[in-house]
Amino acid sequence: MPKQLLIPKGKVKLADFSPTETDGYTKETGRAEETKLEPRLVELQERLYASGKQSLLIILQGMDTSGKDGAVKHVFDVVNPNGIRIANFKAPSLDELAHDFLWRVHREVPPKGTIGIFNRSHYEDVLVVRVNGLVPESVWKARYEQINQFERMLSETGTRILKFFLHISKDEQKERLQARLDDPAKHWKFNTGDLKVREQWDDYMSAYEDVLTKCSTNHAPWHIVPANKKWYRNLVITRTVVETLESMNLQYPEPAEDLSTVVIPD
Ligand code: AMP
Ligand code: MG
Repeated sequence: MPKQLLIPKGKVKLADFSPTETDGYTKETGRAEETKLEPRLVELQERLYASGKQSLLIILQGMDTSGKDGAVKHVFDVVNPNGIRIANFKAPSLDELAHDFLWRVHREVPPKGTIGIFNRSHYEDVLVVRVNGLVPESVWKARYEQINQFERMLSETGTRILKFFLHISKDEQKERLQARLDDPAKHWKFNTGDLKVREQWDDYMSAYEDVLTKCSTNHAPWHIVPANKKWYRNLVITRTVVETLESMNLQYPEPAEDLSTVVIPD
């Protein structure tokens, strides 16, 4: 795996990571590689479900159009939907705001045996919340450590955590937003509020750099995924998920009773 994907220790500068990287793959070879991994992903998910002792939490973050929805659709479409839980985090409701910021998140953590996917997450509470000053600085600053502690607790209680930052360039975002404008079937995805967020691009990049620097831990590492090419983004996520599940030593459980002499009656 290219070294740039798992983020290094030390201050992260996103300018050092190319969103167009494809690690020598072409669209054809990259897609072929992903297709080759799919049966493995299907089997590993089945083992996770059957063994029922651990869960996998996948956190997707990235700017608008970076492909969070696309990754959910294209990476996990092969997997049994029964074993997948998807949570989409929007602006919090009044009820959610009346609790601590992790309250709504903890409820969505996948139960044992399942893969949970967070499309946005508690990281919004140090991204949009920080960039727009929705809470005082002293409040969001304390959250990096609170997040690390929360994720540590989850990892110690059977939840493996993988975090993906889908890294696109500002130019690529312009093209994708324009494509939404040009296609009436994509107008429902276009939100003029996204243009305000685009104006804050540099502030978001700084906020992301802090997230990647402060919250990439051994128990919950961040991966920076070059995401200008959708097929490469899908390959990186698929491969990382497969490798992670492989490392979880997932065994089919022993049958609860001896089945060797069982005869199915006519
Ligand atoms: P989308 O994922 O494009 O449907 O948009 C969801 C919106 O919810 C984004 O604009 C996020 O910034 C916003 N959002 C998610 N979590 C939070 C949060 N904790 N505080 C404020 N806004 C949030
Ligand atoms: Mg979106």
